[in-house]
Amino acid sequence: MKPNNTKPISNSEQSNSNSVQSNMQYQETSTSSSAQSKSNSALPSLGEGSGVGIRVGMGFDVHRFVEGRDLWLGGIKIECDKGLLGHSDADVLIHAICDALLGAANMRDIGYHFPDTANETLNVDSKILLKKVIDLIGERGWKVVNIDATVCAERPKLNPHVPAMKACLAQVMGISEEDVSIKATTTERLGYTGREEGMSAYAVALIAKGDS
Ligand SMILES: [Zn+2]
Repeated sequence: MKPNNTKPISNSEQSNSNSVQSNMQYQETSTSSSAQSKSNSALPSLGEGSGVGIRVGMGFDVHRFVEGRDLWLGGIKIECDKGLLGHSDADVLIHAICDALLGAANMRDIGYHFPDTANETLNVDSKILLKKVIDLIGERGWKVVNIDATVCAERPKLNPHVPAMKACLAQVMGISEEDVSIKATTTERLGYTGREEGMSAYAVALIAKGDS
């Protein structure tokens, strides 16, 4: 990943807990007891956060293969004659998951919080970045519901490593392995991943507040 900004989060981007509270109050004082009416009370208003305590986010990342680097993926080291190039350990899967989580919480992206010009993130273990992202969204009251991710790579074969990656990432995020899905695919030798120039990863994250 490469950062494209380093602007600090402004007050206007802080928590929208007020809108959540007002929706809850509206539900509590509603005189209707029908399920349909309760459902309608949670519909979003134009120009505001929905107030619904569940959000989805997506992430995407790419790193280039180079010789002389270790290959880190999903928090584990995988035997390979090449590694991924990056300021951090270049764990493309973790970076995509971080962006999915931050996107779900509407808290910008990984490059915004961890610029690749910072000494602290030079060759950093991306599991540390993922844990910090969990803490960041946690400060706003968000918990991870589940993650679904896909890694695109021509080689090495990744499927044998999926169970270890799931166990590692679930532990870092503090959730069950059942809530971490990792899939591996090739691009049928098409494009930059097909030419083995690099790896890409996609991730979707669902997060929730309170007892949603
Ligand atoms: Zn990255």
